[in-house]
Amino acid sequence: MEKPIKKKGVFPKMYCSLFGHNYEITKQVTHHVKEYKCKHCNRELTTYSNGNLIELTPKFKEINSILNRIHSSKQARQKPSLF
Ligand SMILES: [Zn+2]
Repeated sequence: MEKPIKKKGVFPKMYCSLFGHNYEITKQVTHHVKEYKCKHCNRELTTYSNGNLIELTPKFKEINSILNRIHSSKQARQKPSLF
């Protein structure tokens, strides 16, 4: 019983460097903050407080989950004052 081995890694990265990343939204944290993942190389990004996209590190995942909890529990118009 042999399973076909999927070669991942080399081609997607080449693809991204040629055509750019193909991000899709993986999580809506708040109205303004979202998490993104590239379909090709699995690179993850998140929206920073200034509106720019930055690398989604474990620390930002943690911050986002806290933001998400505040956001969904409050549903308030006020911005969370974490930043
Ligand atoms: Zn990519």
